[in-house]
Amino acid sequence: DMALDADWAERWVRRTAEVIADAKGELTELDRQIGDGDHGENLDRGFKAVVARLDDVAAEPAPPGERTVGDVLKLVATTLMSTVGGAAGPLYGTAYLRAAKVSGRPQIDPPAVVAVLEAALEGVASRGKATVGEKTMVDAWHAAVEAGEAAAGDGGSEVDVLRAAAEAADTAATGTIPLIATKGRASYLGERSAGHEDPGARSTALVLGAALAAALS
Ligand code: ADP
Ligand code: MG
Ligand code: MG
Repeated sequence: DMALDADWAERWVRRTAEVIADAKGELTELDRQIGDGDHGENLDRGFKAVVARLDDVAAEPAPPGERTVGDVLKLVATTLMSTVGGAAGPLYGTAYLRAAKVSGRPQIDPPAVVAVLEAALEGVASRGKATVGEKTMVDAWHAAVEAGEAAAGDGGSEVDVLRAAAEAADTAATGTIPLIATKGRASYLGERSAGHEDPGARSTALVLGAALAAALS
């Protein structure tokens, strides 16, 4: 299998920006149903800013020492925190910041991929004070961690872990449809939030799908 290194992390992030741009309308429409209709715009603005900063870094002479996966994820974190308003900016920002802290090395192996997913989940859950089943992005991150852990425990490769995580997040996002939101703007709707997919859970599934696609490209 191909190693998951800083170049993979950069492909992941650039792919995420493309996928989010493509899904901007869909995410915004989901957020219109149970929120304020800005989730697609928020993330698209943030990831476009991330790509601009990656392009700036690429134009600079390389600093001494090998770039780590964490270096790339930290750039994402700080950029999202400063460019994305609303709930999603601090939530994703914290996820990437925590993920960066456990990936400060040139390459990550399957257990380290699981550690990255776990760190992201803990970041979102602690920042949002949310737990699984509250119809938020926590549901997708949580499913990804469980599936990734199982795949790594079975001796799976980096790609196996990412595939399991991405598929589980996708299923979990769909699984938010019948739930009643108890955190975030959607919770203002109470029972009327049921019957709609949570936009943040869907965007999380897209982010993790991009991680898999980057590992396969
Ligand atoms: P805002 O709600 O401020 O407009 P966004 O629309 O960008 O922010 O993001 C909304 C998403 O953020 C929701 O779909 C949900 O997944 C996530 N979210 C909101 N509040 C919380 C929370 N307290 N904990 C975890 N996730 C949350
Ligand atoms: Mg919103
Ligand atoms: Mg908003």
